[in-house]
Amino acid sequence: MHNGTYERHSDMDSPFELITLGTAAGPAIRGREDGIASALRVEDAFYMIDFGLGATRAAHEAGLRGKNFRAGFITHLHSDHVVELPAFLLWNWGAPVDGFTSPVQILGPGQDPTHPRGAQLAGTASMVEHTLAAYSYDTDIRATDEARPVLRDLVQAREIEVPAPGSSDIFVVYEDELVKVTAVLVKHPPIFPALAFRFDTAYGSVTFSGDTAECEALAVLAQDTDILVHEAVNLEFFKAGNFSPTFLDHQRLSHTPAEGAGRIATQAGARSLVLSHFAGIASAEEWESAAATTYTGDITVATSGQRFVVRPTSVQSLA
Ligand SMILES: [Zn+2]
Ligand SMILES: [Zn+2]
Repeated sequence: MHNGTYERHSDMDSPFELITLGTAAGPAIRGREDGIASALRVEDAFYMIDFGLGATRAAHEAGLRGKNFRAGFITHLHSDHVVELPAFLLWNWGAPVDGFTSPVQILGPGQDPTHPRGAQLAGTASMVEHTLAAYSYDTDIRATDEARPVLRDLVQAREIEVPAPGSSDIFVVYEDELVKVTAVLVKHPPIFPALAFRFDTAYGSVTFSGDTAECEALAVLAQDTDILVHEAVNLEFFKAGNFSPTFLDHQRLSHTPAEGAGRIATQAGARSLVLSHFAGIASAEEWESAAATTYTGDITVATSGQRFVVRPTSVQSLA
């Protein structure tokens, strides 16, 4: 795996691109940005990281088509990260929409063993199974009426095996000929598991924090990564609003202020920091200047549909 540098512009000729499809946090509409979702394109294939509100349209507008979709990775089962998984699958399925006609994988957390009712609550496999069941009338009809492949045969849900709570071990969750995906547990109580993912390719690496409070294990996972995509919360926004103490505690204990995202980027030696998943409102300048107090590298306050080209450093230096 090589290290890379990145440029902020669109370049479909480049083999490795990050696209921040949506950057908003929470099951709340507080502005124009779509809900949290990102895509990585590696050569012709692409991978999704979370499926927030608007992800389906955003992916299409970014030029991504289901026929090139390989796998989706769910950081955790808060609804703002998975709400459009059903739409994404249904809108990217079959030849009539340039969709997938061979198997795709959806990888995400299993049931929560730390939750008192965890065994009755849905993990990723159950969520996918219920999605397929909920739309079975439509998908059955389209399979025959529109000659689409049987959706159920193509969508493979895989629950990620994770270490015990509190572990900071790095573990492998997926590998194909284009990417190797590793993960750590991050701190997003009371959610368990909540995952950060690192994608290593021949062209460089991108690491996604998922939702987390400031997390040392993430800094280790993201060591020397080309782009660290990190969440950010503006606690002042919530403190100034009419929010309950319980809600404020969640924001404080489960999310990271931009200064913290900068600290993690610095500890990791990340070549660049992309802030995404904004909880609360602040201007781009405010998010950036807060992160810049703790990180001297390149900072981007991501917007929906923004593209980042990652290039191997070695190739870059030959140019
Ligand atoms: Zn979230
Ligand atoms: Zn969350």
